[in-house]
Amino acid sequence: MSADLAAVAATLRAELSARYHTDEITPDTWWLSLSRTALGAVAMIPAMTWLRQVLDVLDAEMAARSVCLPKIGGDGAVIVYSAAALADPIELIETVAHEHEHARVLKADPDLQVAMDYTSGELRATTEARAYAVGAFARYLVTGAWQTADEIVAPLAHGYLLSPADREHVATLVASHLATMRAGVVPSLEVCHVVLEILRAHHPGAIVVEAFR
Ligand SMILES: [Zn+2]
Repeated sequence: MSADLAAVAATLRAELSARYHTDEITPDTWWLSLSRTALGAVAMIPAMTWLRQVLDVLDAEMAARSVCLPKIGGDGAVIVYSAAALADPIELIETVAHEHEHARVLKADPDLQVAMDYTSGELRATTEARAYAVGAFARYLVTGAWQTADEIVAPLAHGYLLSPADREHVATLVASHLATMRAGVVPSLEVCHVVLEILRAHHPGAIVVEAFR
């Protein structure tokens, strides 16, 4: 029996969002489309073609990459889901888990997160390593398929403001979490435990790795 992974993704989205107080934006969110349309009209003015170029980059970014941002003046975070993540249930399960590790940090300590993002490559690397490990764990639970740490962190090569040394650091940290999973142990990351708890409660049949049933 193969589980309905779209339903699993939807449950994870709803449960994690309630737990970590996240709102979400998808590429079809009305106000975003509206502001893009308005900006697009301005960009038709010849002197504003540079704006068109900026918008094209933003469109391409939103199609390819999801991000988690602090909620302005509030508790929790806003997750922007990319079109790529929304198009594939397994990709979405991994992304929902990954971005909620970032949301957990923002909920626990918004100021620390801001300091991390802007001051320290090493802290950013540690943060991303945790998020990639959580995403990889969620994917592993529902697919049983194994990826190497290098494959998992490959997206970091594009635009995350991490030096090659920091990326290497992320891969090393992720590899240690992978070794834990491979031994049949849940990585000691809160969101990994929460994801497993949600799957066991709502979609036990979707967990294909015997050790975690
Ligand atoms: Zn991330």
